[in-house]
Amino acid sequence: MLAARTTRISSSPTMKGLIAAERLRAAGVNVVDLSAGEPDFPTPEHVKDAAHAAIAANYTKYTPNSGSTEIKQAIVGRYRADYGVEYDVSEVIVCAGGKQALLNGALVVFDPGDEVITHTPGWPTLVEQIKLADASPVIVRTSPEDGFAVRAQPFLDAITPRTKAIVINSPANPTGALMTEAEMIRLADVAAPRGIWIILDLCYERLIYDPVAHNLPRVLGERMRDRTILAGSASKAYAMTGWRCGWLLATREVVAACNAIQSHCTSNVCSITQKAVVAALTGPQQCVTDMLDEYRRRRDLIQARVVQDPRFSCLTPAGAFYLFVDVSAFLSPERLRTSADFCQALLEQQHVVVTAGEAFDAPGFLRISYAASIETLAEAARRLHAFIADVD
Ligand code: PLP
Repeated sequence: MLAARTTRISSSPTMKGLIAAERLRAAGVNVVDLSAGEPDFPTPEHVKDAAHAAIAANYTKYTPNSGSTEIKQAIVGRYRADYGVEYDVSEVIVCAGGKQALLNGALVVFDPGDEVITHTPGWPTLVEQIKLADASPVIVRTSPEDGFAVRAQPFLDAITPRTKAIVINSPANPTGALMTEAEMIRLADVAAPRGIWIILDLCYERLIYDPVAHNLPRVLGERMRDRTILAGSASKAYAMTGWRCGWLLATREVVAACNAIQSHCTSNVCSITQKAVVAALTGPQQCVTDMLDEYRRRRDLIQARVVQDPRFSCLTPAGAFYLFVDVSAFLSPERLRTSADFCQALLEQQHVVVTAGEAFDAPGFLRISYAASIETLAEAARRLHAFIADVD
């Protein structure tokens, strides 16, 4: 018999669709895949050059478990420049993606019996990691009527004496919605005196389309720095998903505990990746702006095309690169019962892969990733409309 832990964790509900898409592709079908949660851009040249240079210089050995001093300084420098917050290198650990950073944080803070509040529609890993750390997830829901905004009030309502932490993702996957500074201040003002931790998943922090007050690290730093954990990543900002590099910033005590755990799991992030990420964080940031501009063009195109049929409704994402579309107008007990059915039929009939809202605890919706070329998006929209013409 396997460990009880395995019964608590679900694997990604998007797997079935991906396997079906793979089967179609293998059969030579032209599949339009808008399911990927990753940039389609190549990693910037100067970043790749740094990796080549690292290999040429034989920078191929173990580094300190928490990352080289150079990369930790680069991360500290980036957060100072972007948010005006001060962290020491001893308050940083470099991890295999934001995912490992968040898991480290969960394992270090959560105990069995603790309640940890997070929000959905959301990235499923955040909930699964709470369970992996033997704590109990408490879910608050953001609503389409409110633009899926992450607000303080539902968290405040959900706090009990057992609440250990609150996990927030802003900009959020899959909604593209944000938590504003004002909302974070309201939350922190209650969380801080109660000793509740706030873990902030900032993996999409560089992908915010319009200027907005989103200095959440400073807000938390001023109110509850000793109970704040920031998780960031090179994956989305610099098109570096495969390199596997993220980081966690917190107190020295938290980072030391993460370091102990990581030293028995994966040890340091690939030395070559670290050199590349130093180049990404300290080099010209124009590549980030350029990608963001292109995402904006794609967002505007796919949104305009999708809502040509007003039965689709979706908000304009403020960040990240996903369009979260309400398809409930097409669902009925006779034909397509759920958004998962919708996505399955769309795949079978028009060979378009999108992610069903069920994956994000949001039945009735689907997520379109617009990290794809304008041509691909236009073709996907054409097929989507052909599909619903058939459903009618
Ligand atoms: N947080 C969110 C909300 C994500 O969507 C992802 C990846 O999809 C991550 C964190 C982790 O990304 P990575 O581990 O590549 O840094």
